[in-house]
Amino acid sequence: MNQPADSSVQDQRRSNTTGSGSAAGNAPASGSGVSAASGHSPGQGLEPGGSGPAAGASSTPAAHPASHHAADSDHHGHNHGAFRPRGGESGLNLKPSGRTHASSAGALEDRSTHPAGQTVGNVAVENPVFSCRDVNVYYGQKHALKKVSIDVGRKQVLAMIGPSGCGKSTFLRCLNRMNDSIAGARVTGHITLDGVDIHDKHRDVNQIRARVGMVFQKPNPFPKSIYENVAYGPRIHGLARGRADLDDIVCTSLQKAGLWDEVKDRLSAPGTGLSGGQQQRLCIARTIAVQPEVILMDEPCSALDPIATARIEDLIDELRAQFAIVIVTHSMQQAARVSQRTAYFHMGDLIEVGETDKVFTNPRHRLTEDYITGRFG
Ligand code: ADP
Repeated sequence: MNQPADSSVQDQRRSNTTGSGSAAGNAPASGSGVSAASGHSPGQGLEPGGSGPAAGASSTPAAHPASHHAADSDHHGHNHGAFRPRGGESGLNLKPSGRTHASSAGALEDRSTHPAGQTVGNVAVENPVFSCRDVNVYYGQKHALKKVSIDVGRKQVLAMIGPSGCGKSTFLRCLNRMNDSIAGARVTGHITLDGVDIHDKHRDVNQIRARVGMVFQKPNPFPKSIYENVAYGPRIHGLARGRADLDDIVCTSLQKAGLWDEVKDRLSAPGTGLSGGQQQRLCIARTIAVQPEVILMDEPCSALDPIATARIEDLIDELRAQFAIVIVTHSMQQAARVSQRTAYFHMGDLIEVGETDKVFTNPRHRLTEDYITGRFG
């Protein structure tokens, strides 16, 4: 078995992994639920003295968990590298090898006490944005996701971890019905968004995807200007009352994505000309622009360097003040840094779910412990 993707980089200030890719699609057409195909002309940039808020990074307060607070955070609450919570500092006991050592108090659950299909931990949360019950996904004959039940809480980050092929991306795609577009894929079970069945035949899938935005592994800006990348979704969803309003949405979205200062003078330049990290923040701005409730992220940092990864992680922490975020990551350190709840998947089963600190320091299922201690990956 492979070691976890993290194992070589644990003792750096930032551990950033390039976890091997999942099977998640990267089709631009699906990002933010908008299509890349468009006849819209490139954006003109914001008017001078435009209607947008004053330039500057988002003032959304960072809301790191207590263990993530850093004395050297700036006034925005950002940590700029002088102190980044390492896995060990957020509860993980990292060995020099980078492998983790969990200290389980009491007997671990295993397949005898919790057979396949039974999840250890509390799958329910109060007032969930998503409630998923007995969700199965089949790709032809393959049963890829087995009776998964879990809620997604508001204004918090849910991390999904587990070995490659365990069904993380498959589950993520259930939440905005992206599996619908995979030939041969079949989804059963119940998924409600704000209490309403997302598979209800009266639901418009484009509306669902606007409410449940997605950020992919590889940044996938449209081949358009920076402005148009962000403006496209609000325009097709009729969210702007006019040009000034659209300018405002573009400006605000870029600010929330922490990109405004870097691009405000070149909004008509191509989005594809930005660096990888900037492109990913542009994709996040594009997602935010349609005012989603939930942001799905499928290994959003796996194509990024450590500095760009750090920015995205800081951003995730800021964004959760406003959105529910579900992130698939191969990096346990990343899961520990950015999430409040963690779900561990194994061969299509949701094995365990719980508060992130507890899952990493005191897993209840043997399979979870095996994974986080690096016994398999
Ligand atoms: P993970 O994200 O945890 O790496 P995936 O959700 O991508 O796992 O895959 C779960 C299982 O479903 C794997 O066995 C994978 O091969 C299979 N699978 C994923 N996508 C497809 C697809 N489009 N067609 C057929 N099988 C798929």
